[in-house]
Amino acid sequence: GFAMLLGLWRRREALHQATNRLQLLEDFDPLTGAANRRRLEQAFADRHQRLGEGGESLAVAILDLDDFAQINKIHGHAIGDRILVELRERLQTLLGPKDFLARPGGDEFVLLLSYPGDRKSLVDRLQIFAQALQMGFALGPQAVLRLEASIGVAALSVNSAPFLDGVLREANQALLEVKAHKQDREQIWAIYGEKTARRAQSRAQRLLAEKAMEVWYQPIIDGRNGHTLGVEALARLRDDDGKILTPGEFLPYLHLEEIQELSWMVLARALEDVAELEKEGWPLWFSFNVPAESFTEFCLPCLEGALANSKIPAERITIEILESSDFLDQTQAARVMQGIRAIGINLALDDVGTAYASLQRLRDLPINKIKIDQGFVRELPAHPEDLHFIRTLQDLALETHVEILVEGVETAEILDMLVTIGIPQLQGYAISRPVPLSQLRRFLENPFSLQAQRPATLLGLYAGIMSIHSVVKKTLQPMGQQILVLGNVIQREGFYDQALSRLGYSPGDPLHLAYRAYQSRLSRALAAQVDSFQSTIWQEVEDALRQLQKAILAERQREILVAADGSAASLRGQM
Ligand code: C2E
Ligand code: MG
Ligand code: MG
Repeated sequence: GFAMLLGLWRRREALHQATNRLQLLEDFDPLTGAANRRRLEQAFADRHQRLGEGGESLAVAILDLDDFAQINKIHGHAIGDRILVELRERLQTLLGPKDFLARPGGDEFVLLLSYPGDRKSLVDRLQIFAQALQMGFALGPQAVLRLEASIGVAALSVNSAPFLDGVLREANQALLEVKAHKQDREQIWAIYGEKTARRAQSRAQRLLAEKAMEVWYQPIIDGRNGHTLGVEALARLRDDDGKILTPGEFLPYLHLEEIQELSWMVLARALEDVAELEKEGWPLWFSFNVPAESFTEFCLPCLEGALANSKIPAERITIEILESSDFLDQTQAARVMQGIRAIGINLALDDVGTAYASLQRLRDLPINKIKIDQGFVRELPAHPEDLHFIRTLQDLALETHVEILVEGVETAEILDMLVTIGIPQLQGYAISRPVPLSQLRRFLENPFSLQAQRPATLLGLYAGIMSIHSVVKKTLQPMGQQILVLGNVIQREGFYDQALSRLGYSPGDPLHLAYRAYQSRLSRALAAQVDSFQSTIWQEVEDALRQLQKAILAERQREILVAADGSAASLRGQM
């Protein structure tokens, strides 16, 4: 009797627990733990019943992340989920005792807000939620994702119907309205029944629309002789009172599409101006800036059209890629960049050395020039040891056949340091500030002259010694247990001749011959004291090196095949 009773009781208990668990699943969104649609209905009904009690009013708000699908696509669902979870936690901390938060699905949160009834206190609370939504999300130690969000609100009155659906429909309408005004909305929320407050058009937008844009040019010189090689075209806006606005003053007030339009205007103007200068006897190249974010919608045919209408060949144009966020659809952007390179236009990575212009971009994108950021350069007089970074990038550029330019050359001392260590292209105030076309002409007529004697300053001397020391150090190769002198490598029967013999390649072997060819051309180049790595004699060394590297890799491939064959043969032997 008792055992049967106990069994029954246990079964009942188990059933009870299972129902509880089910209840829990039904009540909460499993990802964020926020209440779900069912609990939202209950909470709404509950609060609606007490509407007007103690002077409190109720508002229902839909909080929605813009382009959330895009985030899932680009960063993956794990990141998307993390953002939702963090968002829920953020919102939770802002809830009062009578508020309620739910996530009925997707990227939407719904909020039941209790407030004292006057519009101002509702708006104050909405502002606080808006701030929480707009705060960045840390993806890693460096990467912060900034999301846009929108909030649609329906404020209930004492005689509002007790149907959540109807109220949500109103909130959703306000949401759509505020999303439609993303470009010019004053704030990210809208209350149903009110007109979205429009932001007054910014001064920058107005000036751009009125085509009050000018293009100024900053010369770029050859570090060996001071000759002007080209110019960077930089946008300026001229205000009504004649004052010039720099990009730092107007870019923050422009939307991405407007910045894109600006870049096209700069290109068009620069094409005309540079063609004009060419007629006057100065054949320069030029570069202009394009934000990386716009490469996904970059218009290749527009570029081709602009080129077709100009006498400036594509090879004399460089697009500088600026990155201000990590929000970049890599594959699509890379495809556009391939297209740009295929036309013959050069691609430079701007501001290398700042957080966003990473070496990974250099490896993955078809970039053929890098511009070292002024942040690296400006501090050189205070921290001359930082020159190591520039020197290393110089090496990387040299070996990956990428051009290198240093910008922000602000003082004569910095110029001296960079010229002394042989930076090939320089740009900065010490040479010239960005100037309008007429002043650029004057610069070209009285060009900048580099002092003949280098180094010319103590810091230049410091840089020179540092650079030569590192060169000497590099000619001493730590190789296994010993330090080898470069000469030992170049001389006949030297280190690598012996290594080749040891690996089984006799002096008559093609691999050995390829090494000898490289060796003799290198010796010749060293003896000839060539003045640049572009010289024919040095190109021949590079060619010989490529042949040698190809021969080594081909030989290795052959070895792998032979080994595979051998093991196949020995397998057959066993059978
Ligand atoms: P950026 O492309 O890195 O351009 C170089 C900036 O450094 C220019 O500022 C230039 O005046 C400044 N600069 C040059 N030499 C020196 C120097 O020795 N010392 C110091 N302290 N600064 C120097 P600017 O013209 O104000 O442009 C700022 C940024 O605005 C540019 O940086 C570029 O990112 C952006 N920008 C400029 N024009 C355009 C444009 O047409 N389209 C787009 N999308 N962005 C532009
Ligand atoms: Mg630039
Ligand atoms: Mg730059």
